[in-house]
Formats: sequence, C-alpha cells, structure tokens
Amino acid sequence: MSGAHWDVIVVGGGNAALCAALSARESAQRVLVLERAPEAEAGGNSRFTAGSMRVVYNGLDDIRRIVPDLTTEEIAKTDFGTYTEEEFLDDMGKVTQYRCDPDLTEMLVKGSLAAVLWMRSKGVRFVPIYGRQAFKVDGKFKFWGGLTVESVGGGPGLVDSLTRAAKKNGIEIWYSARAVSLLSDDDGVHGVRVKREGGTIEVGSGAVVLAGGGFQANPEWRTRYLGPGWELAKVRGTRFNTGDVIRMALDIGAAPTGNWSGCHAVAWERNAPEFGDLAVGDQFQKHSYPFGIYLNAEGRRFVDEGADFRNYTYAKYGRVVLGQPGQFAWQVFDKKVAHLLRDEYRIKQITKASANTLEELVEKLDDVDARAALEEIRRYNAAVRIEIPFNPNVKDGRCTTGLTVNKSNWANVLDTPPFEAYAVTCGITFTFGGLRINTDAQVISTDGEPIAGLFAAGELTGGIFYFNYPGGTGLTNGSVFGRIAGANAAKAAKSESQPKRVAGT
Ligand SMILES: Cc1cc2nc3c(=O)[nH]c(=O)nc-3n(C[C@H](O)[C@H](O)[C@H](O)COP(=O)(O)OP(=O)(O)OC[C@H]3O[C@@H](n4cnc5c(N)ncnc54)[C@H](O)[C@@H]3O)c2cc1C
Repeated sequence: MSGAHWDVIVVGGGNAALCAALSARESAQRVLVLERAPEAEAGGNSRFTAGSMRVVYNGLDDIRRIVPDLTTEEIAKTDFGTYTEEEFLDDMGKVTQYRCDPDLTEMLVKGSLAAVLWMRSKGVRFVPIYGRQAFKVDGKFKFWGGLTVESVGGGPGLVDSLTRAAKKNGIEIWYSARAVSLLSDDDGVHGVRVKREGGTIEVGSGAVVLAGGGFQANPEWRTRYLGPGWELAKVRGTRFNTGDVIRMALDIGAAPTGNWSGCHAVAWERNAPEFGDLAVGDQFQKHSYPFGIYLNAEGRRFVDEGADFRNYTYAKYGRVVLGQPGQFAWQVFDKKVAHLLRDEYRIKQITKASANTLEELVEKLDDVDARAALEEIRRYNAAVRIEIPFNPNVKDGRCTTGLTVNKSNWANVLDTPPFEAYAVTCGITFTFGGLRINTDAQVISTDGEPIAGLFAAGELTGGIFYFNYPGGTGLTNGSVFGRIAGANAAKAAKSESQPKRVAGT
C-alpha cells in the first residue's frame, strides 16, 4: 500500500463525486478524489450537461434563495409558478411507472432544495433557464415542466465551480487516476487500487465513496444489458464511464439493483461522433420534436411527438429512434414554429434539409422513401384539429384524430414555408441499473447488509430511474446523494480510526 492514508477516497470526478468530496471535507481532514480522465477531459457527464437541476420550490421566495441576484425586472416579467414536493414525487412515480424506490425517491425530492442551496454555499451560482424552459406568452415568461434553474456556465461552469471549491478546501484531486479495484476484507473496504502514471498502487483510506458513472460508454455492456442494437447508439457524454466502478463493487459482493435494461437516451445528431464532444456539449440533442413530426426511413410517423412536455418524453424517445430502420429519423417543422426551436437547432454541426415546398423537402431527406413521406405528411396535415388553439406553454390538446399514430398536443399543419428537417439517431446519456444503496448512501451487499466503509452516489446507483426520467434529475440525484455519501463516509472514517474493542475485553 502507498504511504499516504486518506480519511475518504472519492472515485470519480463529476458532480456526485465533487459534492461527496466537499461534503466529506466538512468533517474529514484528508480527502482524495480519483478522476480517471485527464484534467482536460475531467468532470464526467456532469461537464456535458446544461447544468439544469430539478428542484422543489414553493414560489418566488425559494427561487430568490437559489438566485439571489434576480433583478426586479426579471421578477416582473416572469411567472415562476411552483414545483412542490408532491409534484416532484408525482413526476418520479409517473415516469418510472411507480417502480422508483420510494425511500430513495423521497430523499431525492425532499433533499433537492437543500442540496442546491448547499452547492450555492460552496460557490456554485444558478440562473433561471429562460431560453429553454419558459416561453413568452402575452409579454410574460412562464416556466413549465418543473425545471427552472441551471448552473451559471452550464455543466462546464458547474464542474469548474465545484473543482475550485474542492481545491480551496484542500481536497486533493488526482487526474488520469483510474480506480481498478477495492481493497477489502471481512471488516469492509479500506482503500482503492489505482492505475496511475503507468503503475498500479494501493491507496488506503478510512472509507470510499464510489461516484464513477454508469456503463453507457461500454458498447459490450450496452449490448449485454440494454439489448441487441445498443452497440449502435452514440454516447452523448464522457467516454470514461465504462462501468468499471460498478464492476469493482460487484466484485466484492455489492448488490446490483434497478433497471439494468433501461437507460436515458435521446434524439441526437445523426452524424455526431462516437462519444460526446466537449466543444459542442449537449447541443447535438434535438429536443423540439413536440412542435413538429418525426419521419422514419419508410416515410412513416412512429411516435406521439406531443404525448407530453418534452421533459417527460425526451429521455425515452432515443430508444424509439434506435428501433427505427437504419436507427435514424428526421424531425420536420414549418416556419410557424421556427421561433420555438431550441438553440441546438442553430449549431454548425447539423444534418439539415430545408425547402420551400413539401415535395422538394421530402426529396432532400437522405435515406427516406420520399413518396411515402409526402403521403404521410398530407395524411397528418388533414388530421390536425385546427379548431383547438395552439399554446406551447400548456398541454394544449391540439391533437390529430384518425391516424395510426396520433399526436396528442401541439399539432400544427405543416403548410408554411420554409420547411426544415433535421436528421437524428439515438444518443445514450446514462444507464439506469447500478449499485444498491440505502438512504445513508451505504452500498448494500448481496446479503442485504451495508458494506462497511463503502458509499455510492450518482449515475452508478440503481433503483431511482426506470424506463424514463424527468429532465434535470440526474444532477440533483448526484448532489443529494453525493452530499449524504460524503458526510457518512467521513463519519465512518472517523469511527474506523478509533481503537477497536476486541471481543471479550
Ligand atoms: C449531453 C448531456 C446532457 C445532460 N444534461 C443534463 C442536465 O442538464 N441536467 C441533469 O440533471 N442531467 C443532465 N445529464 C445527465 C447527467 O450528466 C448525469 O446524470 C450526472 O452528471 C451524473 O453525475 P455523476 O457524477 O454520477 O457522473 P459523471 O459526471 O459522469 O462522473 C463520473 C466520473 O467518474 C469517472 N470515472 C469513471 N471510471 C472511473 C474509474 N475507474 N476511476 C476513477 N474515475 C472514474 C469519470 O471520468 C467521471 O469523472 C446530461 C448528460 C449528458 C451526457
């Protein structure tokens, strides 16, 4: 074992890990973060995010606690509404088909505001998400979908602020340091075996927090657990989350739990690279489909684009796109909704077709049966209930009727040129299955007992997300449980350093 002995070692360098490290440092002296990525690529999936966080708030007063520098002008022009504990719990229940672990979900929901305020106290700043989560109607921005704040500077800003706070608090971070296994015996976990600078060393600690992400960047595990075809998905974020850290824990008897065949996956630029590109971040995503239609290679619609606000459908529709012939689809819009398209539709790295007539447009859709596509658009146009008013801020019920696949909300006739179409494939965000933890963020063994000295938080834990996911919950999950894991790991390290009573004395 290498000379140094740490109170707490945190494995991972994203939001959950950095929150755990900062929390541990509130009562532990020596905290070490092991980040597999080199410094230039550090920060995990957290760095690729927009920094949006789903958090309970009971009105403007809570928003002002999160964003104290809100101006009077901003307050006057905005209806923030509320997002109550009941609504968050309800959303988690609904999107996971009531499979989410009730105890962990309650911790997540009830701890969300406190966690965000705690992050603020560490130096992370937040702003309202005006561009993406509020539309202006009658001169006032109205927030919708329970997602209202994001970190300043998005994911990169979040990781920078947390890293700065960690360094300021004397937390040591080793980059390019890949944890390969846990040091454990019958008394629990005592450190980590680490591959660093070409050699493998053993680093001892009083407790270990695992926050090393899911297995989405491992095509072999994707195919094994998510199913055939998943090796063909693109990875939206970091290439370093290959399931290493989950495996390390399983190897010493940790219990797997949750939706191992499930994942978060979205519509993603068809020609995006194999892994995320930090220069583009999350902008390869294409989330405005509720205002248009999807067409596949056969020229057919295949999903209800307007089933719900995009926050509640985007994470499951990647899988639907992956299931189409050729694993791609086109999103089609007309000029009437062009102003509603998110910023990500205006980046350079995009596969786009535009035309002044529908006949011309369908000819430009690569790999699509043009004739079938034109017929499908005409069928769709004829089925729109135009007498129902269109309103992007509410589920407006402006639907189609009589189609094989109807659209439930925001159905517009595609009749106003220019028409635009964007090619997408499936981009996987993160996997849902992982390690079983309890509400103290202790890792549970296959025998059902906590493994002494071992804690976990974030993407590599299971039991919270199933089938689908309400946007902005991944970071909140990492923050709430990272904070708990860090505090409890520090406590465990302290008790481990006390002289042990010997049986019979
Ligand atoms: C493009 C994109 C956009 C997103 N947008 C949002 C959003 O706006 N809001 C939201 O809530 N969620 C969003 N998410 C989901 C969110 O990123 C994750 O839920 C969250 O960041 C997970 O945090 P984490 O700390 O658990 O994992 P990560 O941030 O992925 O961190 C895992 C860390 O573990 C490290 N690691 C892996 N293996 C090892 C090893 N063997 N040894 C040492 N270190 C290791 C990795 O290098 C990485 O630093 C988005 C994801 C992507 C990809």
